[in-house]
Amino acid sequence: METAKPEVLKQHAKKAATFSHSPFSHYPVGAALLAVDGTIFHGCNIESSSYGLTVCAERNAIAAAVVSGHKEFKALAVFSNNGATPCGACRQVIWDICGDIPIYIFTKDGQSEIYRSKDLLPAPFDDTKLQKESNP
Ligand SMILES: [Zn+2]
Repeated sequence: METAKPEVLKQHAKKAATFSHSPFSHYPVGAALLAVDGTIFHGCNIESSSYGLTVCAERNAIAAAVVSGHKEFKALAVFSNNGATPCGACRQVIWDICGDIPIYIFTKDGQSEIYRSKDLLPAPFDDTKLQKESNP
């Protein structure tokens, strides 16, 4: 099983950011999601002229992985100019699909931070709330 170091994930996320479609914000973001088998999936932000339809890099990377049949993940890296952390919507989806994984945040000037999903979404809504006995 391959294990990707954070620096490798950074390079993948940085490359993914170059494919960003961000004509409105001019804020490219790239993400690299490491599956347990070592496969790295990429995502970039894709903006729509109908702003609410914009999808973030993180969720696009997750979608790419899930559509390829992957369900277990080891880490996520996010690259932006100034260290964007995942937005609230992405935090929810990261929690739902990836669970409590490390999330590396990288900037173009070489800064980095690390969080865990649980740190970014400390009291998540998730499938435990959707058990049958919880529904009327
Ligand atoms: Zn987001």
